[in-house]
Amino acid sequence: MPTYVRTEKCDGCKGQDKTACMYICPHDLMMLDRDGSATGHAMRAYNQEPEQCWECYSCVKICPQGAIEVRHYADIVPLGGSVQPLRGSDSIMWTIKFRNGTMKRFKFPIRTTPEGSIDPYGGKTMPKLADIGQSGFFTSSGGYRAGNPDELIRRK
Ligand code: SF4
Ligand code: SF4
Repeated sequence: MPTYVRTEKCDGCKGQDKTACMYICPHDLMMLDRDGSATGHAMRAYNQEPEQCWECYSCVKICPQGAIEVRHYADIVPLGGSVQPLRGSDSIMWTIKFRNGTMKRFKFPIRTTPEGSIDPYGGKTMPKLADIGQSGFFTSSGGYRAGNPDELIRRK
């Protein structure tokens, strides 16, 4: 399901040049409607192409106003199921609204470890590219190796 900005909750990140949702979207879909010509509401953000949304929900989680909701395209789910986050200081409360009106809520903690503090290899040494390359796992175990079309046939 793609994301949509609820303009009544969005505050345009208080007029910043680049809003949080614009900053975080990996597909550059979020736009700030400065003059209101796109949405009818000046200084409110909107997803300019919901059908191109990767559904990564980074914008949903970063929005300080909880103004971005997740829902189906109106032509597929006309009755209006939706997923709405409410971000707190230590958790996100997700409200799921089903098409029959049933509501469910789930609370998940927000990651609090400082950025860059995670040890991705758990104390082990970082693997070398050679370990998974020409003489490594992918070829010696009969698997695939990306990048060379000659090697796209499974080896016996
Ligand atoms: Fe609006 Fe939220 Fe985007 Fe800020 S991050 S512009 S409040 S939708
Ligand atoms: Fe962009 Fe991801 Fe939000 Fe879609 S869900 S608008 S791809 S940040």
